[in-house]
Amino acid sequence: MSATPLVSHLDSPTPEKLDLAIPPLLGATVAELTAWVQQQGQPGYRGKQLHDWIYNKGVRSLADISVFPKDWRAELANIPVGRSTIHYRSVARDGTVKYLLQLADGQIVETVGIPSEKRLTVCVSTQVGCPMACDFCATGKGGYKRNLGRHEIVDQVLTVQEDFQQRVSHVVFMGMGEPLLNTDHVLAALKSLNKDVGIGARSLTLSTVGIRDRIRQLAQHHLQITLAVSLHAPNQALREQLIPSARPYPLEDLLAECREYVEMTGRRISFEYILLAGVNDLPEHALELAKCLRGFQNHVNLIPYNPIQEVDYKRPSSDRIQAFANILKQQQIAVSVRYSRGLEADAACGQLRASKSNKIY
Ligand code: SAH
Repeated sequence: MSATPLVSHLDSPTPEKLDLAIPPLLGATVAELTAWVQQQGQPGYRGKQLHDWIYNKGVRSLADISVFPKDWRAELANIPVGRSTIHYRSVARDGTVKYLLQLADGQIVETVGIPSEKRLTVCVSTQVGCPMACDFCATGKGGYKRNLGRHEIVDQVLTVQEDFQQRVSHVVFMGMGEPLLNTDHVLAALKSLNKDVGIGARSLTLSTVGIRDRIRQLAQHHLQITLAVSLHAPNQALREQLIPSARPYPLEDLLAECREYVEMTGRRISFEYILLAGVNDLPEHALELAKCLRGFQNHVNLIPYNPIQEVDYKRPSSDRIQAFANILKQQQIAVSVRYSRGLEADAACGQLRASKSNKIY
């Protein structure tokens, strides 16, 4: 009997489908794995064993599953689990670890492990590169290669978990790529991280620059995840200047979809707002932003600019950052400031370009 592939999860209509004859197992549910082992003529309970070996024991080759019969293990040797290899790893002074992971086709993606007292957060990539070309972001400067499969997203979390020898508590989809351009695989990965890896839905955050209709579509899944939207400007003219891909999708339309999302899911949205000195950090910008966000459940996360090589934006002074936050507070807008971790390892927000180092300090 020969091992037949587990179909289904690479069937989504993305043109960048990986050209692998047999789709990798990582990302499959216990029910899918049970059905698959039964197709192989094995008893159903082996599905649960397979699930345990893939997600808890981190097996990289099915031939190593010692509880399986020997002759079957030999047959399974060429079924890919879907794990990457660590190509490069660097640790910042604050303990943040940046990984360059090599995928089955040789592409490299970046993943970041961010430990704190009570948490271990992983920042995952959803694409190799990114087509959105935001002016302030290093990832966009390198162009776009392809979408990641669900196994390649789940793998990033397992890799950090194994490396830290600690359970991952939170995952933020804020690495390389635009998650809502890879919705099928991102949704599948979110579900697998929740059900198979065991991370609470509320501890999963998806960050998007906003793609027309996709936030509404996401709402229809009624996930309990946190949605973060990269706003970065309080009006369309400035937003277009910073995010060229926003041109065909006016700010009013994006905000209308966000309001619908909050109504449909009952979950507040977190708006990310990068602070670029003299560009979008003036008091009038804060007032205009507050006006945009009035009347629905939300929160603003200010991200002081992290420097990248290609552009000469500046991070505002702490006083300016505080003043901007204070205006929002006075306008009854909930606000926090994100001081990104991993700055000197080029692992902070916007600095991911899948290269080893990019020192500019
Ligand atoms: N494509 C998704 C995820 C991107 S990264 C999105 O756009 O939301 C997560 C956040 O980092 C986004 O808000 C992004 O705009 C921000 N970012 C990009 N470059 C940055 C930089 N140089 N400094 C600080 N934040 C940056």
